[in-house]
Amino acid sequence: MRILVVEDDPMLGDALQVGLRQAGFVPDWISDGIGAEHALATTDYVAMVLDLGLPRRSGLEVLRRLRAAGGKLPVLILTARDTLEDRISGLDGGADDYLVKPFEMAELAARLRALVRRSGGSSQPSLKHGAIELDPAAHRVCFEGRPQELSAKEFALLQVFMQNSGRVLSRHQLEEQIYGWDDETGSNTIEVYIHHLRRKFGREVVRTVRGVGYLMPRETS
Ligand code: CA
Repeated sequence: MRILVVEDDPMLGDALQVGLRQAGFVPDWISDGIGAEHALATTDYVAMVLDLGLPRRSGLEVLRRLRAAGGKLPVLILTARDTLEDRISGLDGGADDYLVKPFEMAELAARLRALVRRSGGSSQPSLKHGAIELDPAAHRVCFEGRPQELSAKEFALLQVFMQNSGRVLSRHQLEEQIYGWDDETGSNTIEVYIHHLRRKFGREVVRTVRGVGYLMPRETS
């Protein structure tokens, strides 16, 4: 779950990156409004954490321009400006949620999970697919009722497939969701992770669509 973090305070930006990574997200951190727009134009994020007071272009302006262009990305505003007026203009500007500094990282992560869940059209906190059950909050996967050991990247990849079952995803789309700017990407690691998922959940869990990408078949029930 790739998240764009826009925050100009270096200590907070760093803490956000570390905290969100620990919560299982793949965060990219940028510290100004124009840079945020470049990142949004080139990368497919599942949500954005947006500070309001930013250099070069304000968070509110970034948000208004995103919505004016038809962007549906879930946006959580994170700011020290605890005035009613700021909260209202943020929400009216198209924000989906609002958190005032200082905040608890656990609450931010939970709110982001809820935003991503709702934007995917689901109100259920855990994802289910056949005998697989994935709990994003607890970072836990069960298969046929038994807990499974997954690496962070295997977990992230499985989650992307479960959120998009029935859709063919290209290798590039998968890489975009599980690697941030700071991650080293090898040439065939997606294939290696898929191999691991098939070993743990059965060969049919992810199908190869030759020349296009990979597919977790929609459940037929
Ligand atoms: Ca700021």
